[in-house]
Amino acid sequence: MNWIRFNEPYSHAGIVEESLRHLAASPFDGEAYKSRLAERFRTFGRYSTEVPLHFLQSATSALEVMAMAMEIQLGDEIILPSFTYPATANAFARQGAKLVFVDIEKDTLNIDPSAVEQAVTPRTRGIIPIHYGGIAADMGELRRITDSCGALLLEDASHGIGAAYEGMALGTMGEFGCLSFHHSKNMTAGGSGGCLFVNQKGYQGIVDEVLNQGTNRTAFLNGTVDAYRWQRVGGEYQMTNYAMAFLAEAMKELSTVTAMRTELWNRYAESFRPLEEKGCFRLAKLPLYARTNGHIFYLLLPSNAVREDLKRFLCGRSIEAFSHYEPLHDTVIGRQVGEERGAMDVTNLVTQGILRLPMHCSLTAVDQDRVIEAVHDYFSR
Ligand SMILES: *Cc1c(COP(=O)(O)O)cnc(C)c1O
Repeated sequence: MNWIRFNEPYSHAGIVEESLRHLAASPFDGEAYKSRLAERFRTFGRYSTEVPLHFLQSATSALEVMAMAMEIQLGDEIILPSFTYPATANAFARQGAKLVFVDIEKDTLNIDPSAVEQAVTPRTRGIIPIHYGGIAADMGELRRITDSCGALLLEDASHGIGAAYEGMALGTMGEFGCLSFHHSKNMTAGGSGGCLFVNQKGYQGIVDEVLNQGTNRTAFLNGTVDAYRWQRVGGEYQMTNYAMAFLAEAMKELSTVTAMRTELWNRYAESFRPLEEKGCFRLAKLPLYARTNGHIFYLLLPSNAVREDLKRFLCGRSIEAFSHYEPLHDTVIGRQVGEERGAMDVTNLVTQGILRLPMHCSLTAVDQDRVIEAVHDYFSR
């Protein structure tokens, strides 16, 4: 029996050959790669021409740039879900922010706006949802909270390419947002890659300096100053030409990839609904405002013991399945650079019970049927 992998990066010979053809013809023309990639984002991802797209080495880079551009000071608070990847936290912790971990909603595993509201203080500088699994967080409620407290809304949309909130692409609604093109995500730039959205005009100049080693190089290139100088702390985060060439080819297939994954997601959800009704586990509930991209499909099992047992059972049938994040509030470093605020009941339960099933574009209907049948067999023993 073939192994059914949890994930297969989205790549094929056509993407590789076409990107190598461009690289052979002009290996160093970074501006050409950048503008072709931006063009593909606008054509195939329908991203607005109003917002500059910054293609960076990773979503982590994008988050670090956000934190630098915000000029985070020691003790400024950033509210984030405890149930996330450490990358969300690291970018702000390294700038001296205090991380405030809050609980998630049980239907979407996204940051819970009512927990956020309780956690806001006069020191809150930013609130950062992650759009777990490509299902949008409740941006309307989060925006209402940031409007009333003056914090910035930052989107870690690392899971979110191709997904939307009320028809708007994830990452484009907060003051800042980012996408990841790591090969574990729906779309990859041939390994690692990220995109930073600076949706609020007021920050575009600062971000530009941060991305140019903290200099006003762009003003120099535009002819507004006669020499460029070091103005602030910045860095070098540019996506490589190779990665831009690869992603530009992959982006042509964004809608196909999203449609394939969404179909797999819906098929899992329909086949498992009877088991959910019997109380075997819970499934994600899609809010009306969210259009998913099928990034993750998970079961929420009643305990760690059941989760581990099912995982072993699936492994016995050559099916790979994984749990997910360890809550950040419950780590030594998490307690050093931050604190939990409010109850963490959902986070703790989800951590114990979540099991993610194989989800990728190479998952055939036959293989998906094998996964579905295995889960049904497990619960009918
Ligand atoms: C993958 C991921 C990141 C990091 O993305 P990179 O592009 O690998 O830096 C950050 N946040 C979340 C929620 C992620 O899933």
